[in-house]
Amino acid sequence: VPESADAVLDGLDPEQREVALALHGPVCVLAGAGTGKTRAITHRIAYGVRAGILQPTSVLAVTFTNRAAGEMRGRLRQLGAAGVQARTFHSAALRQLQYFWPKAVGGELPRLVERKVQLVAEAAARCRIRLDRNELRDVTSEIEWAKVTQTVPADYPAVVAKTRRDAPRDTAEISQIYAMYEQLKRDRSVIDFEDVLLLTVAILQDRHDIADHVRRQYQHFVVDEYQDVSPLQQRLLDLWLGDRDNLCVVGDASQTIYSFTGATPEHLLNFRTRHPNATVVKLVRDYRSTPQVVHLANGLLGQARGRAAEHRLELVSQREKGPEAAYTEYGDEPAEAEGTARRIRDLIAAGVPAGEIAVLYRVNSQSEVYEQALSDAGVPYQLRGAERFFERAEVREAGVALRGAARAGGNDSLLDDAEGLPSQVRAVLSTKGWTTEPPAGSGAMRDRWESLAALVRLAEDFEQAKPGATLSDLVAELDERAAAQHAPTVQGVTLASLHSAKGLEWDAVFLVGLTEGMMPITYARTDEQIEEERRLLYVGVTRARFHLSLSWSLSRSPGSRGGRRPSRFLNGLRPGSAALGGRGTVGGGVERPAVTKRRRRGPALCRVCGKTLTDAGEMKLMRCEDCPSDMDEALYERLRDWRADQAKEIGQPAYCVF
Ligand code: ATP
Ligand code: MG
Repeated sequence: VPESADAVLDGLDPEQREVALALHGPVCVLAGAGTGKTRAITHRIAYGVRAGILQPTSVLAVTFTNRAAGEMRGRLRQLGAAGVQARTFHSAALRQLQYFWPKAVGGELPRLVERKVQLVAEAAARCRIRLDRNELRDVTSEIEWAKVTQTVPADYPAVVAKTRRDAPRDTAEISQIYAMYEQLKRDRSVIDFEDVLLLTVAILQDRHDIADHVRRQYQHFVVDEYQDVSPLQQRLLDLWLGDRDNLCVVGDASQTIYSFTGATPEHLLNFRTRHPNATVVKLVRDYRSTPQVVHLANGLLGQARGRAAEHRLELVSQREKGPEAAYTEYGDEPAEAEGTARRIRDLIAAGVPAGEIAVLYRVNSQSEVYEQALSDAGVPYQLRGAERFFERAEVREAGVALRGAARAGGNDSLLDDAEGLPSQVRAVLSTKGWTTEPPAGSGAMRDRWESLAALVRLAEDFEQAKPGATLSDLVAELDERAAAQHAPTVQGVTLASLHSAKGLEWDAVFLVGLTEGMMPITYARTDEQIEEERRLLYVGVTRARFHLSLSWSLSRSPGSRGGRRPSRFLNGLRPGSAALGGRGTVGGGVERPAVTKRRRRGPALCRVCGKTLTDAGEMKLMRCEDCPSDMDEALYERLRDWRADQAKEIGQPAYCVF
């Protein structure tokens, strides 16, 4: 912990310091990846608190992901400013909603709907519309899109026709199902994930007394990753602010990657127009990455088009030279995964900690082949950060059971409060089938047992550290850990989607699967969508501090015909490729020869669900007929990813939401 408020400023450069010292009025930081935006705002809050200018409880810092919020809380603690709220929009809204619901509406806040897709299915059935599984999922996604963009059922067809090129065909039917779905939710007194923001906005809009209460509580607002704020989130922010302007936003228009939730960088780019008295700071020193990585990132953005691109800032690396980026073409996906795993093993052998390495891909279904290859190579890994443990079904179930038991407290005959804590946990877990002895053999049963045993060990450690702690304390600790992603597992290589890697950094980053169809994803058709894919790759590239590897494979499996091409975004960047738009080759690097190791790896499998394929048509698509097409998959993945993350933050298991 820095000794004084001034010592908090020591770790900042002059521009970052300007941000930290501008504690009143609107502040906008426009800057590229790795320039210390998040650091500047974290230090700003810490400085303000330590200098006695900001009340910790009157500051609300909003970040974009669950993990980012957890990291910010951790940083603030380290800087001696614990107690500041750092949350996602959803979690901040949910808390307020829970608090104000009894007064605004009466009774308790309705539960979040557990099986949303089922509710949509029921709505469709009531409208006498038959949907198969894929259609059902698409309709659900459409309803979600409509809600995040604040489109009511009646307006849905017209809005889609006007604003979207990827319009679904039966918008009238979807609108009908959507209206029925809303009706069913009201009838059953449940709300869905999107309602959390919508209802908060509605209440703050209608009830001035409640809005005033919130405004008295929070005086200072800080928003990270502001380029990805949606109109609805902006509305909420405006309601929180009222007529005040103590708002500090930081963002990078070139990292706008959530436009499918309605986000646009316009709020960031128009900030000065809206707040003419704003302090605007630009940061260009890149503290994160080597000149090689920065060069590549600049080159990638050099080809970008659109409004965001007009505002890009050339980054200047502050670091020593590092290795050149590696570009590798593989014959097929398993070979790519194996090659990646081998390189990762070499890096670990050379002293790079596994936790400092990440493999990033476009859609989550790409992870499996990498999980396999890393397991084969004996490399520990964790899926999407360290959240794997808390994502496991049995851990989520156990969490629900423990929470229930903690709420029931001493009244629950199952628990004897005098028993201080692991025995209580064992008692609750025994209702989930946990036994003190592990089941024989390995496999799913054993894995499940191991997870629950880890929870008991955690309870033991917790009690040691905090004698007299209650079950409620433990539940709070578990929530905190789940939020901060401190899983009680070994530090492993991170496997994550590009979307969820936003704001994070690793020593070594492997960007895999960089083919046309994946990057940009087939779903991206319009120019704007292609540009967003390019920004997504930019986000990926700029996650690397030192080692950066870009790879792709020419076919999916050893037997298949191939025909894949490297991503168009690599044109002009990778050595030997024709430059796009007449630009020179940038980025340096070594292109390795294709690794075309053809091996048969058993039967063809569905690339989405992994089922063995027998039908020739299915084999051609590498997808069984039950699974969605690439296009659906992409949309679904993006929404699911985002939602799963947000859902965790508000204590809802992801499966309840989608
Ligand atoms: P992104 O756009 O990816 O979110 P960012 O602009 O938020 O990036 P940070 O994550 O805040 O950047 O900082 C990137 C890295 O550079 C971090 O490791 C941070 O600690 C380091 N860094 C930032 N500013 C400085 C500085 N003034 N001195 C030393 N290191 C710094
Ligand atoms: Mg950041």
